[in-house]
Amino acid sequence: MNSVPELNVVKKDWRKVDLKIALCYPNVYRAGMSGLTVRLLYGLINSREDVLCERFFMPTSDEPIRSLESNQPLKKFDVIAFTLQYEEDYPNVIRMLIESSIQPRRNRRSATDPIIIGGGPCATSNPEPLAEFFDLFLIGEAEPVIDILIDRIESWKDTKSGVEELADIKGVYVPEISNQTDRVWCRDFNSAFFPIEQQIPIVNEKSPYMTVFGKSFAIEPIRGCSRFCRFCLYSHISFPQRERSLEKVEEIIEEGIRRTPVDKVSLIGASIFNYKYLEDLCDYIVSSGLRLALPSIRPENVTEHLAKILRKGQQRNVTLAPDAATPKMQEIIGKRMSEADMVDAVKILLRHEIRRLKLYFIIGLPSEEREDVEAIAELSKKIADAGYGPKAVHISINPLIPKPHTPFQNENPPSVAYTRSVLRLLRAKLRGDRRITIECLDPRYAQIQSLLSLGDRRLGDVVELVARYGGGLGAWRRSLKTCGINLEKYLRDRNIDEYIPWKNINVGANIVK
Ligand code: SF4
Repeated sequence: MNSVPELNVVKKDWRKVDLKIALCYPNVYRAGMSGLTVRLLYGLINSREDVLCERFFMPTSDEPIRSLESNQPLKKFDVIAFTLQYEEDYPNVIRMLIESSIQPRRNRRSATDPIIIGGGPCATSNPEPLAEFFDLFLIGEAEPVIDILIDRIESWKDTKSGVEELADIKGVYVPEISNQTDRVWCRDFNSAFFPIEQQIPIVNEKSPYMTVFGKSFAIEPIRGCSRFCRFCLYSHISFPQRERSLEKVEEIIEEGIRRTPVDKVSLIGASIFNYKYLEDLCDYIVSSGLRLALPSIRPENVTEHLAKILRKGQQRNVTLAPDAATPKMQEIIGKRMSEADMVDAVKILLRHEIRRLKLYFIIGLPSEEREDVEAIAELSKKIADAGYGPKAVHISINPLIPKPHTPFQNENPPSVAYTRSVLRLLRAKLRGDRRITIECLDPRYAQIQSLLSLGDRRLGDVVELVARYGGGLGAWRRSLKTCGINLEKYLRDRNIDEYIPWKNINVGANIVK
């Protein structure tokens, strides 16, 4: 893709490094640069003088796939590292390789081809659907293992001469030999590397390259979540919960804003509401004259003071994720959020003029009945009654995608027909209520996500075909048919007591069914 004007791009002299790493995000720039992962890995790898790291994204048009930094093709790099955040991006991985004239199948590449590495939550939870394409996967977090891995690769005389030997590094899974692998995680999170110089697109707000949080400095005060909701992959592959001290976070922000001159800080982390110093941190950010972006909170976080700070920090909307609406379903998912607490919280937010709300729910949960679905509409209305205006409450309905290593790994996802019936029911119950809007992930894509989340190596053929057919639902239909896979039957007939595709991956989670 053509380069994007950015702050803090790292351009190194190709002649002065020992190893060249392509960091690939298998989706477009806006998607990749809206999170922290790419900026973190980019900073971490480039902090070594002997290595250069350049970024690749899926182009938005017919442009060739080239690095942002020096317009080089993927083939010129020694290592190609993909961060795998979402299953639906898998065909894009293959497309990026094919369009770069790199053989996607591991066993058809030669010793002089780049070594291809996968990491991120999808690799950690179940790398098997992509096992035929990658030389190795990193299981867990990059910080503890990246230097060891780079040193070992640098020590090779011929590229790829010893991929299998890398399996002795803790956290490295080599699909060729299917070694037992333990997840690695960063033990000293407080002093772990953090990117102070972050890449910010210098484009206008309407540009397709503008990130979701706009021009903001991202900070990760907390990692992991101690709540272990039973559907939640994040908590089961990112434990234990770790926090940076308030002092450390303030230090990072102060230096970060000096080196990344923006006027907004976005707090990153699925469990940011658990951060012990959340209110103090928000206070610090806003009193430093910066705007604030907070991804999601719990009702018990919402105090008059926090609401006042959020308003001052120009946070215009707030997200609550009850995920289920009845006490029965909340018990089943292991996540409790009382109706009274939610109503009290939104009343406070409304008093401080934070007038937009997003609510997340999961449907297709085990033992779900009609009344549990109807309760989603009733709860949303009660919350809207606190004083929301037209189109101010946005409900996000998410079909259950069972995840490996969680107590729901053996559950079946809802069928497309069931999800559609739930949506019809919710729309009927909320018809005429102008305060509430509903969105739902296309149930057909949700099923594909479940398939890739829970599947095994047989899916490699399907993913490659989808890539070759150009992606999209039609390509999925055709590819599944060609490979003789009936998606719903494949998911339904799994017997996890006999065969677990991710059996070689030990994340250390103690699953309570
Ligand atoms: S609170 Fe959120 S991040 Fe934590 S376990 Fe539950 S769903 Fe996951």
